[in-house]
Amino acid sequence: MSKTIIISNRLPLQIKIEEDEISVSQSVGGLATGMKSVHEDGDSLWIGWSGLTEEEITDTTRDKVQKEIEKNKCAMVPLSEDDVDHFYYGFSNKTLWPLFHYFMEYTTFEQENWESYKRVNQKFADVVLDHVEDGDTIWVHDYQLLLLPNYIKQKKPDTNIGFFLHIPFPSYEVFRTFPWREEVLEGMLGADLIGFHTYDYERHFLSCVRRLIHLETNFNEISYDDRIIKVDSFPMGIDYDKFYNAALAHENMNGDEKSDIQKRLDEHLYSSDDAKMILSIDRLDYTKGIPNRIKAFEYFLEKYPEYQQKVRLIMLAVPSRSNVPQYQLLKRETDELVGRINGKFSTVSWTPVWYFYRSLPFDNLIDLYTSCDVAMITPIRDGMNLVAKEYVATRVKQDGVLVLSEMAGASKEMNEALLINPNNFEAIADKLKQALEMPKEEQKERITSMQARLKRYSVEKWAEEFFTALNTSKTVRN
Ligand code: UDP
Repeated sequence: MSKTIIISNRLPLQIKIEEDEISVSQSVGGLATGMKSVHEDGDSLWIGWSGLTEEEITDTTRDKVQKEIEKNKCAMVPLSEDDVDHFYYGFSNKTLWPLFHYFMEYTTFEQENWESYKRVNQKFADVVLDHVEDGDTIWVHDYQLLLLPNYIKQKKPDTNIGFFLHIPFPSYEVFRTFPWREEVLEGMLGADLIGFHTYDYERHFLSCVRRLIHLETNFNEISYDDRIIKVDSFPMGIDYDKFYNAALAHENMNGDEKSDIQKRLDEHLYSSDDAKMILSIDRLDYTKGIPNRIKAFEYFLEKYPEYQQKVRLIMLAVPSRSNVPQYQLLKRETDELVGRINGKFSTVSWTPVWYFYRSLPFDNLIDLYTSCDVAMITPIRDGMNLVAKEYVATRVKQDGVLVLSEMAGASKEMNEALLINPNNFEAIADKLKQALEMPKEEQKERITSMQARLKRYSVEKWAEEFFTALNTSKTVRN
């Protein structure tokens, strides 16, 4: 019987080793959720890195780790510390991530990291080739594995392979600066279906294929040797019901059940009739436009001083990649900006920015989503941005306003948000004012439309549509 093989850099498991004992928990990220039904229901195998380097797995724990991984229908790609340094932190996070997000000044091109990237993609291919059988369907995920589709296709030409990129694909003018551009395009073209979040990313990719490796394209199909490769956009959704239902349950909570964070949020909301809260949540990443957002909020308080002592920015920044220098700089800049604005405007009873530098459990995220009148999401570049979608999904009373950067993939599906250019402080300040003053009726109209779309195009639907397209592309080829 044929099976489905899902491949991503990380397995959907968190494995910890403490004193030779191992503990395993399931990941709750978007990808893990989206693929859950595919992975749990049918005959399927998930291949990826466990998060533990080979040096961390001792002889005594190896069998236990292996058993847990197999129990969860997974297979492990062994990565050494050196692989993690060069392939993951080096090439994936210091080359591909900044380049594909248009941060060329942060992009390094190191031959050593490229060699490691190829080696690790080959390691993934070796594990796949150990498990793949004729008739299997393969779905490869994201920028860490751009070469993998071709490595598999070379050895198993009859296997149906899908590839999905979760980050933007940059325009030709940016992509052409990349020293290994042809190899990477050819790597991706090992797939039979290549998916992106938006039509723009798809268009950029097709243009690079035409101009850099001179292949013929016809609408969204590429002719490559004797194959036809399909390229399409599949905007990723969220587990809508999970967020909506959690928010409903939150709504019906009594006082004793409230978290400490919720109690603090309530204190601010009850402090005056026109107290309002603006939410911002992201990983602390330079693509997310966090300094811009703080500066724009500062500008807003200066331009519209009547909002001082009334409006508070609740900012959750989740630590991320903190051993990469640019992330350390960003942390310092963010701390300083929050300090500056709080120092400048605070009064005895009001601090303009509440800043949390940590990750919060799901229930606390729901506290934040449901308590804030406005979500202000202003990335400089973002493949999709799920936080924007999650905020809208939790608005069970159909109130609240989303202020969203037009540079986020999510903006393409969320026209009813107040869209802004994240570099235009004037416009952000004005849209914030508009958001805070928006009549309830208009809030309802906008939220209702967005909720209907999010409910319909859930993350499960996303996975289902990709699979359907992948299976159709196989039919066309045969
Ligand atoms: N998130 C989380 N813990 C937190 C804050 C956020 O698990 O403390 C989740 C959030 O619910 C969302 C994801 O992290 O699902 C962020 O996804 P997004 O697409 O917005 O950004 P990414 O981090 O993938 O660039």
